[in-house]
Amino acid sequence: MMKHDFDLIVIGAGSGGVRAARVAAAHGAKVAIIEEYKVGGTCVIRGCVPKKLLIYGAHFAEDLNDAAMFGWDIPGCTFNWPVLRDNVLAEVGRLEAIYTQTLANHEVTIFHERGELAGPNEVRLASGEVRSARIILVATGARPMLPPVSGVEHAITSNEVFHLERLPKRIVIAGGGYIANEFAGIFHQFGSHVTVVNRSDTILRGYDEQLRDRLLQISLAKGIDFKFNSTFNSIEKAEDGTLKIDMGGCDDLEADEVLFAIGRKPNVDGLGLDAAGVALGDKGQIKVDDDNRTNVPSIYAVGDVTDRIQLTPVAIREGQAFADSVFGDKPTRVDYANVPHAVFSHPPIASVGLTEGQAKNKLGSVRTFTSDFRPMKNVLAGRNERSLYKIIVDETTDVIVGLHMIGPDAPEILQAAAIAVKAKLTKADFDATFALHPTMAEELVLMK
Ligand code: FAD
Repeated sequence: MMKHDFDLIVIGAGSGGVRAARVAAAHGAKVAIIEEYKVGGTCVIRGCVPKKLLIYGAHFAEDLNDAAMFGWDIPGCTFNWPVLRDNVLAEVGRLEAIYTQTLANHEVTIFHERGELAGPNEVRLASGEVRSARIILVATGARPMLPPVSGVEHAITSNEVFHLERLPKRIVIAGGGYIANEFAGIFHQFGSHVTVVNRSDTILRGYDEQLRDRLLQISLAKGIDFKFNSTFNSIEKAEDGTLKIDMGGCDDLEADEVLFAIGRKPNVDGLGLDAAGVALGDKGQIKVDDDNRTNVPSIYAVGDVTDRIQLTPVAIREGQAFADSVFGDKPTRVDYANVPHAVFSHPPIASVGLTEGQAKNKLGSVRTFTSDFRPMKNVLAGRNERSLYKIIVDETTDVIVGLHMIGPDAPEILQAAAIAVKAKLTKADFDATFALHPTMAEELVLMK
């Protein structure tokens, strides 16, 4: 048998790659991982984690405002962006060290440089060194897309947003997905004037229509501007640093920052996929089967680079399933049904299962229950924001097939409710559950 340097080489130390490397090593494999930027990947370094910390930071703006009606007089309250930014980056650094330590504890060799495939069993490092493995896992994730617009180099993406030197007074955010809407909320709460530019006429495609509409109405009422059916012609930087944006479909705009959050592209460029003979799908993603295997038997791929569902818990599950199947003698496949997802907007949205439209198409007859209410805290605060919860039920079986929420803490509440949806509980099961009073979540068991 041919002797290789390692049993497994993982390219990319993000959510999927780190889990796969750690678990394969725990199963006894000799593992190396290659990372060109920072151990932890998008989620830890420039995605979920720093973003959620900014969301927490942003939320204080509303809480401090609402506090007055609860008797709190807080004079001279100001926001200091560099303090929050540096604290967030320090926390990211702490987590990066923990991830690195975990890999070291499992005796995973880390190469801190770029890697590319040099053949079905070989990886070439940036240093020129070539290392071989019986199995190679590509877990290189995805990266933000930029449009082919003149002056795009003056714009930023989610990669740069966490490092901004100063808070922009005016920011234009391109995109209608969750990242665009989350940063719209963050910058608005920090006091920036936010304009969201969308090339279509809807935000958050794929989410329940009523919830999308509710978020749009609340965002507009807060003072976030939206430009629909609009595109960027060019961006020019004036001498004073102002970005002058020539727009199509709406009036031209001026801003201090332009943030493109228009989608993420699988990281396959320059990865040597040709050399290894790995086939790509029509969106440039690595094509894999249900066992995360590419068309080359020794090469597997997990996470965003395969463009199935671009979420951290999915990449982690895929990494775990790969390692258990290939190195742990425990064949495992990921079940993609009922993956919960959230938009950490202000207020947040959370969702699991089918939307009302999808359920009608799939099942024919469905029953929909809604609760449209103003949370108790909002009432006293004088905050005119209503929450909306929706339950979609298969009329034939009474099984809950979709659950959708917008309102304070919706993602925290939905995580627990997602267990019930995954377990295929019925509306009758929800009805039989006592309310926990007084909470917002009790609406879930009180819908008639
Ligand atoms: P990644 O975590 O992206 O890791 C890939 C790694 O490979 C990176 O570290 C990269 O540097 C490295 N790499 C790439 N090419 C090479 C190479 N040739 N050589 C060496 N190293 C290489 N998901 C959620 O579930 N919840 C959220 O709230 C959420 N928020 C997000 C917010 C933002 C702003 C962004 C951008 C993403 C967010 N995501 C969220 C998505 C989540 O971050 C990804 O789905 C997840 O990180 C995918 O994991 P992965 O292992 O596939 O890739």
